[in-house]
Amino acid sequence: MAALTGNDTAFARAQAVIPGGVDSPVRAFGSVGGTPRFIDHARGAYVYDVDGRGYLDLVGSWGPALLGHAHPEVIAAVQAAATKGLSFGAPTLAEAELAELIRARVPLAEKARLVSTGTEATMTAIRLARGATGRDLLVKFAGCYHGHSDGLLVAAGSGLATAGLPGSAGVPAPVAAQTVVVPYNDPAAIRALFAERGDQIAAVITEPAAANMGIVPPEPGFNELLRELTQAHGALLIYDEVLVGFRVSSAGWWGYEGRTVSPDLFTFGKVVGGGMPLAAIGGRAEIMDLLAPLGPVYQAGTLSGNPLATAAGIATLQLADAAVYATIDDASARLSAAVSEALTTAGVPHRLQHAGSLFSVFLGIETPVRTYVDAQTQHVGAYRAFFHAMLDQGVALPPSAYEAWFVSAAHDQAILDAISAALPTAATAAAKAIG
Ligand SMILES: *Cc1c(COP(=O)(O)O)cnc(C)c1O
Repeated sequence: MAALTGNDTAFARAQAVIPGGVDSPVRAFGSVGGTPRFIDHARGAYVYDVDGRGYLDLVGSWGPALLGHAHPEVIAAVQAAATKGLSFGAPTLAEAELAELIRARVPLAEKARLVSTGTEATMTAIRLARGATGRDLLVKFAGCYHGHSDGLLVAAGSGLATAGLPGSAGVPAPVAAQTVVVPYNDPAAIRALFAERGDQIAAVITEPAAANMGIVPPEPGFNELLRELTQAHGALLIYDEVLVGFRVSSAGWWGYEGRTVSPDLFTFGKVVGGGMPLAAIGGRAEIMDLLAPLGPVYQAGTLSGNPLATAAGIATLQLADAAVYATIDDASARLSAAVSEALTTAGVPHRLQHAGSLFSVFLGIETPVRTYVDAQTQHVGAYRAFFHAMLDQGVALPPSAYEAWFVSAAHDQAILDAISAALPTAATAAAKAIG
């Protein structure tokens, strides 16, 4: 038996008092096996575990760490805010400042409401859409993740467009049935749904580039079709940019795709909070003004627009200039090329997919991944082997084959070289797993 590490004892202690030892399931390493690393601190491109071991990090807190971990100016902004008090339950000017920064990047977000999590943001966007349209039905795409509220934890049944079945215990079937699940990138399915039930649909919520089933970019014209159909039938279009927003470009996916589609509502999270619990709903003023206190759609939050969180968000957006995005684009291109090269050399069939600077690699398949069904044909065991071989060499990849890899502005050439040096061993491990 190998000696127990600090991570093993930390995990055992946490499991005794926290379900599964974690406060969010993917952290438990369930799909890759092994003991999750308990993090003590992080800096730049590194996270350090409780044993003091450093890992080159490609998780980036699942997105927020755009600038790298613990950027000194973001930390200073949070510290300065903390000295003035942690929470007031009254408005602060920093909230208006952050909403202005959001609008400057995404002018369609004429007004924004700040909340604490992406889950709250999407939940509120959907309530707004229902309030605005007087309709109940919500359309989402299989494989897209929009947080863990009841109506969004639904699974597709068989068939092209299906009434949602509860995707989690505890979700009432009648709630799930208010969500219709359609395959991503399938124009025929969404057209058929609108032809049949268009007058009942309150909103289509989409990841405008899907990044929670691995990276699955929209096919050309797909987002445009969503706009066309929603507009024609009086439904709203919600771009859930919680993951891609302020990451793939200064104006998120909407900016990256050329501002060709005008969604009614956006949801933001992750980067917009700079690592603190903060997210936002933004959109046309006439829709946003339906929120209480102006309108009949209720939404509230004791810690919404928290001063520490707004300080982190403001500092992050101010620091995320064109040079930051160029650095991240370049790092992503270099790293993904190195991954592909190592896999090719080891003879591992693979499919690399990009959405701007986000990428992921599907092992064991080479055909394009356009839908969740396609993504499920990847070789999960090969990823497990690849993941652990990287971790053993001090590189922390997302602990699931269905996640994007996150680079940051701190991933400079020396960091990329160090990650690249670990790739051949991991690619060989993946090759063995495929057999
Ligand atoms: C992470 C994520 C969410 C949920 O955000 P939380 O802050 O984890 O609640 C919603 N939508 C998308 C696209 C996400 O990636």
